[in-house]
Amino acid sequence: MVATSLSAAGIRWDLADLEPGAEQARREWDELLVRARDFAERRRGTVASAEARELRELLDELDELYQDISRVHFYATAREHTEATDPETNDLATLARDRAADLESSLVFVELDWLALDDGRAAALLAAPELAPYAHRLRVAREEKPYVLPEGEEQALNARKPAISAWQSLHGRELATLVVEFDDGEGPEPHTIDQLLAYVHHPDRELRLAALDVLYEALDPVADVQAACYDALVGDRLSLDRLRGIPDPLWPTNQSNELDRDVVESMLVSVEEHYPLGRRWFVRKAEVLGLDRLQLADQYAPVGSDRRVEWPEAVEMVDETLSEFAPRLGEIFRTCLETGHVDAEPRVGKVGGAYCNSVSKTVLPYVLLNYTDRLGDVVTLAHEFGHVVHGTLSLERQPYRVYHTGLALAEVPSTFAQLLAVERLIDREEDASIRAMLLADRAESAMASIFRQTMMARFEQQAYALRGEGKALTRDRLADLWIAGNESYYGGSIELPEGYRLGWSYIPHFIHVRFYTYAYTFAHLVALLLLRRYREDPEAFAPAYLEFLAHGASRSPQELLAPLGVDLHEAETWTDAFAELDRCVVEAEDGVAALDAG
Ligand SMILES: [Zn+2]
Repeated sequence: MVATSLSAAGIRWDLADLEPGAEQARREWDELLVRARDFAERRRGTVASAEARELRELLDELDELYQDISRVHFYATAREHTEATDPETNDLATLARDRAADLESSLVFVELDWLALDDGRAAALLAAPELAPYAHRLRVAREEKPYVLPEGEEQALNARKPAISAWQSLHGRELATLVVEFDDGEGPEPHTIDQLLAYVHHPDRELRLAALDVLYEALDPVADVQAACYDALVGDRLSLDRLRGIPDPLWPTNQSNELDRDVVESMLVSVEEHYPLGRRWFVRKAEVLGLDRLQLADQYAPVGSDRRVEWPEAVEMVDETLSEFAPRLGEIFRTCLETGHVDAEPRVGKVGGAYCNSVSKTVLPYVLLNYTDRLGDVVTLAHEFGHVVHGTLSLERQPYRVYHTGLALAEVPSTFAQLLAVERLIDREEDASIRAMLLADRAESAMASIFRQTMMARFEQQAYALRGEGKALTRDRLADLWIAGNESYYGGSIELPEGYRLGWSYIPHFIHVRFYTYAYTFAHLVALLLLRRYREDPEAFAPAYLEFLAHGASRSPQELLAPLGVDLHEAETWTDAFAELDRCVVEAEDGVAALDAG
């Protein structure tokens, strides 16, 4: 169980900025329902004839409503994530889910009415100064218009959602309930998939290899079901695309990221051209570990040594990182900590992982993480505060519904903050062995985001193409695609075990959001570029970066990034990002060379 000696003990949320208690939250859910119905009664059907000023009032009122929903909803979620065993919490969470769904369906008419306008009228409204804060979002929404079906058909498609998500639940349940015996040297113990996967970071090679063998053995009996789930979902998505007239399986993802097909493709091609950079590191790493060649289980084997970082040191480190970049960012960080907006203590009844929730224009973001005194946790803290400062600054300037960008861009500020913190940790570290670990870890996590996620996006593309040709996605077909994709990346620099043919079967992103994978590639490459631009001219970069954060989603990624010296339409942009990754790999190589010398 969780050790009580962890240094973040007692660092818990204070939810008072959301709600005073459950009773008040229940009352507010009822009030919100009344407010939403009243709003719908007054506003339904008015968009068609609205002047710019009236539409602005409507959108402002809707924005207020959504902020209150967000606040009351997050109160329930926050409790559910930190006190899962409390009966009052569970009741409140159930109520929140039901109410949120009701509210969503009573407010969705605004979007539909907006799409129903003819192009001329919409263009006239979009040009009106009154609508400026919403113009970009409204314009992007209309790009989906050609693919939206008549209301009755959309409702019928919506009604199938529970049946479709049943495939996703089945996939998740098969994995979540998979528990296998594994002996880590202290006798056989039941292990989950995640626990087995965590052994790839273990210093003992025998354990790393054995854990993966046991993992693949455990996956074998469920692989047919996992393939059937994926086949059903891909088949469904493709038939809906045909019905809507969507030409490319990537289109819905590109649309929500506001990235052109050409931008995404030229990025992926550039990544594939740089696969040899990854292989160079794996060959070097094999030497460091005293091996002829790495096995897959050695890919993330630790190099050098780790150290403990207690919570106060982590806070100081991240505070200094942000404040040195721009004092305002440090201020936001400290205010969140002082007002109980960070929950860092791992404990029973709390969810794993880490996230940031930007609640509304009047409530500072809340951050959840599980701080276990490891160097990697400092990086997570910085990552989440990259999201916090983005949310805070954009909510100061943008309407609530215009602060949040698509996934690909949303991970840029968090990855950038994380890279700044890692650089600081590396610069301050005097112990050569810990330095080597930090440098290797920085290079390897960049490779995992950039190379591996690209490999996965290509796997998805090929799976959609096969399914589109009328071929079923069986476990063998998926395994062949998976191994071919992996070989094109690793190119013999890492030996892939036979069991890895099932490596595709436990990746949740394939099941939940198609082509989510490339968002990590994009965010990491852009963050590396931003770091390069920052180094070139820190004085000019920092204020431009704060502006970028404050713009939220009020313009396209291309427009947002151009003032920072990143042109997404220029192929050279990606070459530049790889020069930065190359630097990380060279420094990792120097880090391990210093170990050899010492
Ligand atoms: Zn993130």
